[in-house]
Amino acid sequence: MKTANSMTTPVRNSAVGEKSSFIAQSKQAIAGAGMRWKKLANDTSRRELFGTYARACAPQFARNIENYVGTINIPVGIAGPLHVLGEKGNRTYQVPLATTEAALVASYNRGARLLTAAGGCAASVVSQRLSRTPLFAFRRAREALEFASWSGNQQERFRLITRDLTRHGNFLASNTVIEGNHVYLELVFSTGDAAGQNMVTFASDAICRWLLGRSPVAVQYWFLEANLSGDKKATAQALRGVRGRRVIAEAEISRQLLETYLHTTPERMVEYWSAGAIGGVLSGAIGMQGHYANGLAALYLACGQDIACVAESAVGVTRFSVTETGGLYASVTLPNILVGTVGGGTGLPFARACLEILGLAGEGHSDALAEVCAATVLAGELSIVAAFCSDDFAKAHHSLSRGVVSAEVHSHE
Ligand code: NAP
Repeated sequence: MKTANSMTTPVRNSAVGEKSSFIAQSKQAIAGAGMRWKKLANDTSRRELFGTYARACAPQFARNIENYVGTINIPVGIAGPLHVLGEKGNRTYQVPLATTEAALVASYNRGARLLTAAGGCAASVVSQRLSRTPLFAFRRAREALEFASWSGNQQERFRLITRDLTRHGNFLASNTVIEGNHVYLELVFSTGDAAGQNMVTFASDAICRWLLGRSPVAVQYWFLEANLSGDKKATAQALRGVRGRRVIAEAEISRQLLETYLHTTPERMVEYWSAGAIGGVLSGAIGMQGHYANGLAALYLACGQDIACVAESAVGVTRFSVTETGGLYASVTLPNILVGTVGGGTGLPFARACLEILGLAGEGHSDALAEVCAATVLAGELSIVAAFCSDDFAKAHHSLSRGVVSAEVHSHE
């Protein structure tokens, strides 16, 4: 049964019905928040968190949070222009970044401007997929093996079961991992323009219930997820595989541009990169990168993405090398970019506004948003490594976080 419902745009019967349901929802959300504030009994906090904006948007926010009491304001800055040579065309972006960390936007801004001056950063989505991994327990390993083999032959059935649950997600494949008398069943889906965690959860649940009713061997117990998918965790498997979108961004930067924008040389950047790679190995890091979490958290927050997914999205590999012409080759590979341009928090007013600044709100833009994530991350990697190379890291943070904006930052604006 395919319906026209969407999480961002609920189905409504008529314009009159729509208006009255919105008013009722609005009153309910504001009344609920008002009751909670009575218990919190702090007028200053109430004014700060539950002002005009928080009250006006209460119905929209109430669909994304429980026990709503208001909104917080986080500053948003712009990094750009960032010219991206994407799979579906070349575009110049102004990237909204929400953060409370001084120097972060300045750093991404100078990296973005360098990439743009270098002719742009090429970015590609290599693949898109998202999984859930339910667990089924049996009395003996032989039974687990029989279940795994039987479930492996049900791929077409899985596709049929999930086909009608979403107009946009598709079942792709299943794989099994057997451990003792347990079977971890990896169910893999594409999720269209949505980040898709809810989508794959609902689809996996339906598959599990079908399996439970038909398994040739008795299932002792089962769980919808047993921690193998990597949801919201940095895992070694995620580095090789894909969760969300696997994206690559790369650029070649001339020696002259590097010296002008970042005050360093390709050789010095590669020297730092080698030291950083060994430092990462010594620390036991998964992947090799400088500070993916900074740019991703700021971009995810601004654009209504699930910020907790930065735990997995900030895994990847940065690589620098000197080119034959004496310039710098720089790339980032991010196997777990979990973003969508529909669903989740993307319809909230602030997120919609930031996605619109990017020109990426709504359907058809999730690959481009993933490309922007990778390009932004590359800008940040270039900038932070250069800051260490030119010995500007402490100076920049000191001047920007202690309220003194340096002339150098202005010179790159
Ligand atoms: P969602 O808002 O639950 O679902 C996406 C909605 O957008 C679906 O209703 C989908 O339609 C619709 N849609 C419209 N156009 C689409 C298009 N072109 N491509 C794809 N979908 C389109 O969001 P979700 O992306 O599935 O899940 C993200 C949310 O899950 C986030 O809020 C995240 O915080 C949360 N989350 C959930 C879990 C979990 O395990 N449940 C885990 C982590 C995070 P259809 O109805 O036709 O599919």
